[in-house]
Order: sequence, then structure tokens, then C-alpha cells
Amino acid sequence: MENLKEMLLLLSDLQELDTRIVNLEQQSLNLPKEIEEKKQEIINLKAKFESEKIEYVRLSSLKKEKESLLSTKETVIAKHTSDLNSVKSNDVYKTCLLEIEKAKADKSNIEDEILMLMDSIDQELINLKQYEETLKKTEAEATNTISLIEQNIKKYMDDIIILKKERNEFAKKINTNILSQYERIRENRNGQGLALLDGDSCTACNMVLRPQLINQATKCQELVYCDNCSRILFNKKHI
Ligand SMILES: [Zn+2]
Repeated sequence: MENLKEMLLLLSDLQELDTRIVNLEQQSLNLPKEIEEKKQEIINLKAKFESEKIEYVRLSSLKKEKESLLSTKETVIAKHTSDLNSVKSNDVYKTCLLEIEKAKADKSNIEDEILMLMDSIDQELINLKQYEETLKKTEAEATNTISLIEQNIKKYMDDIIILKKERNEFAKKINTNILSQYERIRENRNGQGLALLDGDSCTACNMVLRPQLINQATKCQELVYCDNCSRILFNKKHI
């Protein structure tokens, strides 16, 4: 082909545009994942905050139960103390005293448990406040970050549209037969249909090429393809 060198030069410029588009597309693909990660971070913090609230409610209701039990024990002590004045037999008197001692021991244990619960509840309140503050702060930061990422996605999309228009306009300069081969190859080669030579290697797949292939590619009299990756080979350095 007469102007093959010229066509391959244009094709290598087109390849540069396509590479820029592919890179932008790949970079923009990661951004929605970053938004999801931020959202997940907030969901996790909210879940943690909710579980702390549940723990606080659990401890508070346990404390109420213990207080009610304590009141029962106090009633038992008061009743038996009052009974002591009216009992007639020694045995009943002794039983009353034993009941009072037992209730007093129970009461003491319950009081200790209530004190421990009060400590736990105080700590839980501190935890809740901290989680709430962290949640608010992280939520505000995440909202800002997500908004920035969304702006970036929009910018990437706009840049890609502009670049694709530019690319399609530029592609019109290239022989349709060469262009269609290039397009077909790049479909299955990560967007790259043309590979430049670097010494004796294909820069796309790094394969060391046969001298004959290098010779043919350098002569530029026909389209030559890499044995390994099947891309169109171009020895741009020897133009
Ligand atoms: Zn190759």
C-alpha cells in the first residue's frame, strides 16, 4: 500500500486517543465503588450505634429489675422484723431471724449488682455519645466526599464524550480497510489494536519477535501482525 506509513502514523495517533479514552473509562469505573465504600462505612457506624443503644436499654431494664427485686427483699425484711414482736414460739422466732439474715444477704448482693450496673450504664452513655459524634462527623465527611466523587464521575463522562467525538473525527482520515481491522483487533485486546516495536519486541505483549517480522514491519509495505497478540505492528522509530 502506497501510503501505509502515513496511515500507520495516523493509526498510532488514533491509538493514543483510544488509550486515553480507555484509561479515563477505567479510572471512572472505580469511582462508583468508592461511593459504595463510603455509604457502607456509614451503614456500619449506624449499626454499631444502634447496637450500643440496645445495650444501653438492656442494662437500664436490668437495673430496674434489680431495683424491684431489692424492694421485694426490703419488704421481706420489714415483714419478718414486724413478725418478731408477735411470735410466740422460739422456733418461729429463729426462723424469722434466719429469713431476715438471708434477705439482708440477698439485698447486699443485689445492691452490689446495681452499683456495677450503674457503672456499666455510665460507660455505655459515654460510648453512645462518642459513637454519635463519630457518626455525625463521618456522615458529614462522607457526604462531601460522595459529592466530590460524583462531580469527578461527571467530569470523566464529559471528557470521554469530547474525546470520543475527537477520536471519531480523526478516524475518518484513515483508510477504512485498515481502520476496520484495527477496530476488530482492539475489541478483544483491551482497546489496543496497534502495537509499536521497541527494538525486537512488541510493546503491547512484550514478546520478542522474529527478525523477518521486524523486517517486514520496518519496510511498511503491507500490514504485519504480532505472532503473539495479533495486533498490527508498527516500527514508528524507523520512519
Ligand atoms: Zn504483541
